[in-house]
Amino acid sequence: MVSSNFDALVLKNINFKDSDKIYSLFVRELGKVSCKAKGVRKFSSKRMSSLDTLNFLRVGIYGSGDLRLITETKVIHSFNNIKNNLSKLKTSYYFLEIINKTIYEDSDTSKIFDLLLKCLKRLEETNYSDTRIENFFEYHFLKLMGYSLNISNCGICNKEVTTNASFGFKFDNAGVVCLNCSNSLLILSTADLDAFMFLENGRKAENLDFKKVDEILKYYITEISGSSLKSQKFLSIS
Ligand SMILES: [Zn+2]
Repeated sequence: MVSSNFDALVLKNINFKDSDKIYSLFVRELGKVSCKAKGVRKFSSKRMSSLDTLNFLRVGIYGSGDLRLITETKVIHSFNNIKNNLSKLKTSYYFLEIINKTIYEDSDTSKIFDLLLKCLKRLEETNYSDTRIENFFEYHFLKLMGYSLNISNCGICNKEVTTNASFGFKFDNAGVVCLNCSNSLLILSTADLDAFMFLENGRKAENLDFKKVDEILKYYITEISGSSLKSQKFLSIS
Protein backbone atom coordinates (compact mmCIF):
# COMPACT_ATOMS: atom_id res chain seq x y z
CA MET A 1 0.00 0.00 0.00
CA VAL A 2 1.59 3.31 -1.07
CA SER A 3 0.86 6.13 1.31
CA SER A 4 2.13 9.66 1.77
CA ASN A 5 3.49 11.11 4.99
CA PHE A 6 2.25 14.32 6.57
CA ASP A 7 2.59 16.46 9.69
CA ALA A 8 -0.70 16.40 11.57
CA LEU A 9 -2.39 17.29 14.84
CA VAL A 10 -5.18 15.05 16.17
CA LEU A 11 -8.41 17.05 16.63
CA LYS A 12 -10.88 14.37 17.70
CA ASN A 13 -12.15 10.86 16.97
CA ILE A 14 -15.32 8.80 16.83
CA ASN A 15 -15.79 5.05 17.08
CA PHE A 16 -16.63 3.24 13.87
CA LYS A 17 -17.84 -0.35 13.58
CA ASP A 18 -16.46 -2.80 16.15
CA SER A 19 -12.80 -2.04 16.22
CA ASP A 20 -12.17 1.01 14.02
CA LYS A 21 -12.07 4.72 14.67
CA ILE A 22 -12.42 7.73 12.44
CA TYR A 23 -10.00 10.52 13.27
CA SER A 24 -10.33 14.15 12.45
CA LEU A 25 -6.79 15.35 11.70
CA PHE A 26 -5.48 18.83 11.05
CA VAL A 27 -2.87 18.17 8.35
CA ARG A 28 -0.40 20.94 7.55
CA GLU A 29 -0.73 20.53 3.78
CA LEU A 30 -4.34 19.30 3.52
CA GLY A 31 -6.42 21.19 6.08
CA LYS A 32 -8.89 19.22 8.18
CA VAL A 33 -9.38 15.66 6.97
CA SER A 34 -11.13 12.51 8.22
CA CYS A 35 -9.13 9.30 8.22
CA LYS A 36 -10.10 5.81 9.23
CA ALA A 37 -7.78 3.75 11.44
CA LYS A 38 -8.56 0.06 11.23
CA GLY A 39 -8.47 -2.20 14.26
CA VAL A 40 -7.24 0.46 16.68
CA ARG A 41 -9.81 -0.39 19.37
CA LYS A 42 -8.57 -3.93 19.74
CA PHE A 43 -7.07 -4.51 23.17
CA SER A 44 -3.78 -2.63 23.77
CA SER A 45 -3.53 -1.05 20.37
CA LYS A 46 -0.38 1.02 20.46
CA ARG A 47 -1.56 2.95 17.48
CA MET A 48 -4.64 4.15 19.35
CA SER A 49 -2.55 5.85 22.05
CA SER A 50 -0.38 7.43 19.39
CA LEU A 51 -3.56 9.01 18.03
CA ASP A 52 -4.58 10.76 21.27
CA THR A 53 -6.29 14.09 20.78
CA LEU A 54 -3.70 16.91 20.72
CA ASN A 55 -0.81 14.69 19.60
CA PHE A 56 1.52 16.03 16.94
CA LEU A 57 2.34 13.23 14.51
CA ARG A 58 4.04 12.20 11.37
CA VAL A 59 1.26 10.18 9.82
CA GLY A 60 1.02 7.95 6.75
CA ILE A 61 -2.23 8.45 4.84
CA TYR A 62 -3.47 6.27 2.00
CA GLY A 63 -6.26 7.26 -0.39
CA SER A 64 -8.25 10.43 -0.75
CA GLY A 65 -11.64 12.00 0.02
CA ASP A 66 -13.89 9.99 2.32
CA LEU A 67 -11.78 6.87 1.91
CA ARG A 68 -8.58 7.94 3.61
CA LEU A 69 -6.82 5.36 5.76
CA ILE A 70 -4.13 5.85 8.37
CA THR A 71 -1.28 3.47 7.56
CA GLU A 72 1.36 4.45 10.09
CA THR A 73 1.93 6.89 12.92
CA LYS A 74 4.97 8.35 14.58
CA VAL A 75 4.42 10.64 17.56
CA ILE A 76 6.63 13.71 17.45
CA HIS A 77 5.16 15.51 20.45
CA SER A 78 2.45 14.31 22.83
CA PHE A 79 2.21 17.53 24.93
CA ASN A 80 2.11 15.74 28.29
CA ASN A 81 2.56 18.94 30.29
CA ILE A 82 -0.62 20.26 28.71
CA LYS A 83 -2.54 17.03 29.26
CA ASN A 84 -1.58 17.09 32.97
CA ASN A 85 -2.69 20.68 33.55
CA LEU A 86 -6.42 21.38 33.42
CA SER A 87 -6.11 25.06 32.62
CA LYS A 88 -3.65 24.45 29.76
CA LEU A 89 -5.78 21.58 28.50
CA LYS A 90 -8.88 23.81 28.36
CA THR A 91 -6.98 26.44 26.40
CA SER A 92 -5.73 23.79 23.95
CA TYR A 93 -9.20 22.32 23.46
CA TYR A 94 -10.48 25.81 22.76
CA PHE A 95 -7.86 26.13 19.96
CA LEU A 96 -8.85 22.73 18.53
CA GLU A 97 -12.53 23.68 18.59
CA ILE A 98 -11.81 26.88 16.63
CA ILE A 99 -9.91 24.82 14.04
CA ASN A 100 -12.73 22.25 13.90
CA LYS A 101 -15.32 24.94 13.21
CA THR A 102 -13.43 27.08 10.71
CA ILE A 103 -10.97 24.94 8.73
CA TYR A 104 -12.06 22.75 5.85
CA GLU A 105 -10.44 20.22 3.59
CA ASP A 106 -8.08 21.35 0.84
CA SER A 107 -7.51 24.80 2.19
CA ASP A 108 -4.09 26.41 2.45
CA THR A 109 -3.56 25.94 6.14
CA SER A 110 0.18 25.59 6.63
CA LYS A 111 0.51 29.01 8.32
CA ILE A 112 -2.43 28.32 10.63
CA PHE A 113 -1.02 24.87 11.38
CA ASP A 114 2.33 26.43 12.33
CA LEU A 115 0.62 29.06 14.51
CA LEU A 116 -1.31 26.37 16.38
CA LEU A 117 1.80 24.26 16.84
CA LYS A 118 3.78 27.27 18.09
CA CYS A 119 1.06 28.13 20.64
CA LEU A 120 0.79 24.53 21.86
CA LYS A 121 4.57 24.39 22.30
CA ARG A 122 4.50 27.63 24.29
CA LEU A 123 1.72 26.30 26.48
CA GLU A 124 3.67 23.08 26.94
CA GLU A 125 7.01 24.67 27.78
CA THR A 126 6.34 27.82 29.72
CA ASN A 127 4.51 29.21 32.71
CA TYR A 128 3.55 32.12 30.55
CA SER A 129 0.07 33.31 31.39
CA ASP A 130 -2.31 31.11 29.42
CA THR A 131 -4.57 34.05 28.60
CA ARG A 132 -1.77 35.75 26.69
CA ILE A 133 -1.05 32.64 24.64
CA GLU A 134 -4.78 32.34 24.03
CA ASN A 135 -5.02 35.98 22.88
CA PHE A 136 -1.87 35.59 20.77
CA PHE A 137 -3.46 32.62 19.01
CA GLU A 138 -6.79 34.43 18.50
CA TYR A 139 -5.17 37.62 17.19
CA HIS A 140 -2.91 35.88 14.64
CA PHE A 141 -5.52 33.30 13.71
CA LEU A 142 -7.97 36.08 12.78
CA LYS A 143 -5.23 37.74 10.74
CA LEU A 144 -4.41 34.54 8.83
CA MET A 145 -8.13 34.01 8.15
CA GLY A 146 -8.26 37.48 6.57
CA TYR A 147 -9.79 39.31 9.51
CA SER A 148 -7.02 41.67 10.52
CA LEU A 149 -7.91 44.17 13.20
CA ASN A 150 -6.65 47.68 12.55
CA ILE A 151 -4.96 48.72 15.76
CA SER A 152 -2.39 51.18 14.44
CA ASN A 153 -4.51 53.93 12.85
CA CYS A 154 -7.94 55.45 13.32
CA GLY A 155 -10.23 53.66 10.86
CA ILE A 156 -11.91 56.94 9.91
CA CYS A 157 -9.30 59.75 9.75
CA ASN A 158 -6.26 57.46 9.59
CA LYS A 159 -4.52 59.26 12.45
CA GLU A 160 -1.78 57.14 13.96
CA VAL A 161 -2.50 55.62 17.35
CA THR A 162 -0.42 57.41 19.96
CA THR A 163 -0.60 57.47 23.71
CA ASN A 164 -1.40 61.17 23.90
CA ALA A 165 -4.81 60.95 22.25
CA SER A 166 -7.96 59.06 23.21
CA PHE A 167 -9.02 56.03 21.25
CA GLY A 168 -11.84 53.56 21.33
CA PHE A 169 -12.68 50.34 19.52
CA LYS A 170 -15.38 50.26 16.85
CA PHE A 171 -16.67 46.79 15.97
CA ASP A 172 -18.12 47.89 12.60
CA ASN A 173 -14.68 49.09 11.52
CA ALA A 174 -12.86 46.13 13.07
CA GLY A 175 -10.38 48.52 14.58
CA VAL A 176 -9.57 51.56 16.62
CA VAL A 177 -11.02 55.00 16.06
CA CYS A 178 -10.06 58.27 17.69
CA LEU A 179 -12.74 59.69 19.90
CA ASN A 180 -12.90 62.86 17.80
CA CYS A 181 -14.17 60.73 14.91
CA SER A 182 -16.59 58.45 16.66
CA ASN A 183 -18.21 57.93 20.02
CA SER A 184 -17.02 54.43 20.73
CA LEU A 185 -18.48 52.91 23.85
CA LEU A 186 -15.40 50.78 24.27
CA ILE A 187 -12.69 53.23 25.30
CA LEU A 188 -9.17 51.84 25.07
CA SER A 189 -6.61 52.86 27.66
CA THR A 190 -2.89 52.97 26.93
CA ALA A 191 -2.55 49.60 28.66
CA ASP A 192 -5.23 48.12 26.36
CA LEU A 193 -3.56 49.52 23.23
CA ASP A 194 -0.17 48.30 24.44
CA ALA A 195 -1.61 44.82 24.94
CA PHE A 196 -2.70 44.85 21.28
CA MET A 197 0.77 46.02 20.21
CA PHE A 198 2.31 43.27 22.31
CA LEU A 199 0.28 40.68 20.36
CA GLU A 200 1.22 42.33 17.08
CA ASN A 201 4.98 42.70 17.52
CA GLY A 202 5.97 41.42 20.97
CA ARG A 203 6.78 44.89 22.27
CA LYS A 204 6.59 44.81 26.05
CA ALA A 205 5.25 47.96 27.64
CA GLU A 206 5.19 48.60 31.38
CA ASN A 207 1.47 47.95 31.79
CA LEU A 208 -0.46 45.54 29.65
CA ASP A 209 -4.16 44.99 30.17
CA PHE A 210 -5.66 42.09 28.20
CA LYS A 211 -9.24 42.29 29.51
CA LYS A 212 -10.77 44.36 26.69
CA VAL A 213 -8.45 42.80 24.10
CA ASP A 214 -9.76 39.39 25.17
CA GLU A 215 -13.36 40.60 24.85
CA ILE A 216 -12.75 42.05 21.36
CA LEU A 217 -10.89 38.99 20.04
CA LYS A 218 -13.52 36.56 21.32
CA TYR A 219 -16.25 38.59 19.63
CA TYR A 220 -14.59 38.06 16.22
CA ILE A 221 -13.66 34.43 16.90
CA THR A 222 -17.33 33.75 17.68
CA GLU A 223 -18.35 35.60 14.49
CA ILE A 224 -16.18 33.50 12.20
CA SER A 225 -16.91 30.22 13.99
CA GLY A 226 -20.59 30.68 13.14
CA SER A 227 -21.74 29.76 16.64
CA SER A 228 -20.61 30.17 20.19
CA LEU A 229 -17.88 27.82 21.22
CA LYS A 230 -18.50 25.32 23.98
CA SER A 231 -14.99 25.56 25.31
CA GLN A 232 -15.13 29.36 25.28
CA LYS A 233 -18.13 29.36 27.65
CA PHE A 234 -16.35 26.84 29.76
CA LEU A 235 -13.30 29.11 29.90
CA SER A 236 -15.19 32.23 30.85
CA ILE A 237 -16.92 30.53 33.79
CA SER A 238 -13.64 29.40 35.33
ZN1 LIG B 1 -10.02 59.60 13.68
